[in-house]
Amino acid sequence: QENIVKVSILGSESIILGYHLLPYLASDLVQNVKASTYVIITDRNIAALHLNPLLDAFQDAQRKFGQSVRVLFKVIPPGELSKSRETKCAIEDWLLEEVCTRDTCLIALGGGVIGDLVGFVAATFMRGIPFVQVPSTLLAMVDSSIGGKTAIDTPHGKNLIGAFWQPKRIYMNLSFLSTLPKREFINGMAEVIKTACIWNEQDFEKLEQGVEKIQDAVLNGVKDDFTGTTMETRTEGQCLLLDVILASARVKAHVVTVDERETGLRGLLNYGHSIGHAIEAILAPQVLHGECVAIGMIQEAELSHYLGYMDRASIDRIANCLSSYGLPISLDDERLLCRSGGTPCPVDTIMSNMRIDKKNAGSVKKIVLLSQIGDTVEKKASAVGDQEIETILHE
Ligand code: ADP
Ligand code: ZN
Repeated sequence: QENIVKVSILGSESIILGYHLLPYLASDLVQNVKASTYVIITDRNIAALHLNPLLDAFQDAQRKFGQSVRVLFKVIPPGELSKSRETKCAIEDWLLEEVCTRDTCLIALGGGVIGDLVGFVAATFMRGIPFVQVPSTLLAMVDSSIGGKTAIDTPHGKNLIGAFWQPKRIYMNLSFLSTLPKREFINGMAEVIKTACIWNEQDFEKLEQGVEKIQDAVLNGVKDDFTGTTMETRTEGQCLLLDVILASARVKAHVVTVDERETGLRGLLNYGHSIGHAIEAILAPQVLHGECVAIGMIQEAELSHYLGYMDRASIDRIANCLSSYGLPISLDDERLLCRSGGTPCPVDTIMSNMRIDKKNAGSVKKIVLLSQIGDTVEKKASAVGDQEIETILHE
């Protein structure tokens, strides 16, 4: 199978990328991730577009391998509100009603919301059952589906209750991206650019130079499920899109393999997130995660410059790259103000939001500082004083 690519994580080649991946996915599960019941959990938007093809793929795989398994599905409402204790309970009660036992495999078909929620259900159902990630958004592909962080939200904040629970497989079917709303694609690009910034200047250059081709691949190229299936029929844009997602997934897989529980290196993936999350706490859900992280990346790059670690030209390059994909780079951005209804983000609110960051060491804030594009000051987040952060936020 030279039309799929595998990436190793935590010692096993469990990340699989390709176009038109559903036949492979179903065959691989039925043969190699054995279960008596496969349970697909997805949201209403994704179900309307991609559930039937997945069910068909299971039918075909069962016929092909002469096996008979039970395939169930549950569709929940889209949106962050579903990442709740209530939805978790509802899924658990339904699984019990359906007499799902420990030889059940959960399939999280969706974006970050579905992945985090279903992962956490898998982590605690019958003390833990196998699950697989089938990310359907760019953000979930390059970020949230990799690394085993699962969680739900509470009224006190996002992702406060959860577990580390690794998926058996992560199937990235790039054909799913053809139905993704453009804004959601741009949202995911923030994490792709973030990863290049902390890890690899060549990857960053590829992103700078590939804007048109990458956008073209998503907006036009992957529409037909059968184009891009093989190396020969893939357009240049489709190759580049795969390349860029692959590069991000590889970095994340490596970092997670070295530091699964985030004691140091994995913390680098939080570049842009210390300030980004604090802004997101004010502007969500009108403004998306990646949009807030993009602004956080610029502010944290400014901080790196202010502290004497990085030149100004690098900040400009990061800003240009982010805006060329359609991401905001400051709180004054027109589209952002329009979406947020002009909600103000006062510096003291951002500062107090940053105080409750899980990653802080006591009261000392930890921020990822860049030394150049593709490299960081430390191989972990650095301690930064409140005074310096406030200065940057006031500018
Ligand atoms: P994220 O992955 O960014 O955390 P969500 O899980 O909230 O985000 O998904 C973002 C939105 O995109 C949701 O409304 C979801 O239903 C929708 N969505 C996810 N994947 C697709 C897809 N492939 N095509 C169309 N809509 C999708
Ligand atoms: Zn993120």
